[in-house]
Order: sequence, then structure tokens, then C-alpha cells
Amino acid sequence: MANNGLLIVISGPSGTGKGTICKALSEDKDLWISVSATTREPRAGEIDGVNYYFLSRQEFLEKIENDDFFEYAEVYGNYYGTPKWKALEAIYSGKDVLLEIDIQGALKVKQQYPEGVFIFILPPSMEELKKRITNRGTETEESLMRRFKSAYHEMNYISKYNYAVVNDTVENAVDKIKAILSAEKCRVDRLKEKILDSEEVEIHE
Ligand code: 5GP
Repeated sequence: MANNGLLIVISGPSGTGKGTICKALSEDKDLWISVSATTREPRAGEIDGVNYYFLSRQEFLEKIENDDFFEYAEVYGNYYGTPKWKALEAIYSGKDVLLEIDIQGALKVKQQYPEGVFIFILPPSMEELKKRITNRGTETEESLMRRFKSAYHEMNYISKYNYAVVNDTVENAVDKIKAILSAEKCRVDRLKEKILDSEEVEIHE
């Protein structure tokens, strides 16, 4: 337990730019980025263990049975899930693990691993979020409205998180997240285990 890494969960409504932030954070070699498992066929160029762990339906169902996922969902007829065994292996070896996940998934992870660091990414304003969703330019007016409504609704979940970071610029957001992680590593309840484990320091309750 003493030298465990942190489980960092980054999520937020779609259009807030959490993917870009996670990509920037992933340049830090000390962070271990979680790779999801799926039953869908690999697309051209996708590599097992890099883009996804590609599993057969049978393998995936066995892992569900063994409670091997933090969370999973069926999307367009295929299963997708966050492998618990891989993340815990990294955490127990002292590495910090980053999960980028939607809000529903994040809440399931929190139920199972409440000591994780849950960070909600916010747009600078709802107007800006609308612009970012619209600028993707791939959707009809109706689906844009649906996405925007859903993003608006998802804002309500912010109170379930430990931290909120506004994505005004990627640099600012990444700096704030790094500051959060530094502070988390100094928290007494995390440090106490390490100090007590070292057997050299006495802490009086
Ligand atoms: P794709 O097949 O295009 O890579 O992904 C399809 C959908 O699966 C996307 O909406 C993506 O967010 C979702 N997805 C990918 N990995 C996971 C996961 O680990 N858990 C859940 N719940 N959804 C995932």
C-alpha cells in the first residue's frame, strides 16, 4: 500500500477538450495511460495493447464475470471496458495511472476506487462549449442540439468530483492538473502510510 501510485480520472462533458489535455499529460513518462479492452475488430493500423486490448466476446464475458473491469458498456453491439487488473498492477508498482473516461464510467470507477483523484474538465463558458461542439462540423442541427443538451445536463455531476479544471488553454489546464497531482502526493493521509511504513518516524495521534 505504502508506495502506491495515484489513480487519476479525467472526465467531463463532450466538447470540453479532455482528450487533448490527456494527450498533453501523457507526454509525462511517469504516467501510465490506461488502455481499454474491446470486443470489436481492430481497425487498420490498430495495435493490440496500444489502441485497445482486443478480446473475444467469450474472454470479455469471463472478465465481466470475474469483476475484472472498473466499468464496461456495450456500444453499437460491442463491449468496451476499463481493465481493473492492468490499472491496479501499475498503481501497486508505484506508477500513477490516468483514465480518460465519460461521466457515467467515472462514477462507476469512483464506487470501486474512491481514493482516486477525480478531475472534472470544464469549458470556459457554455457559449464556448456550444462553439466547440459546433466547430466539429460533422453533425446535423438536431444532433448538435442533442449533444449540447446532454453536455449541459452532465454539468450537474460536477459535485461528485474532487477537482474542477477550466480548459481555457491546454497549457493552463495541464499546469493546474500537475499542481493537483503534486498536492495529492503531499496529503497527510497518503503520506502517513509511507511514513509509518518506514518504521523510523513515530506519529502521535
Ligand atoms: P471506437 O470503437 O470508435 O474506438 O469507440 C466507440 C465508443 O466506445 C466511443 O464512444 C468510446 O468512448 C467508447 N469506449 C472506448 N473505450 C471505452 C471504455 O473503456 N469504457 C466505456 N464505457 N466506453 C469506451
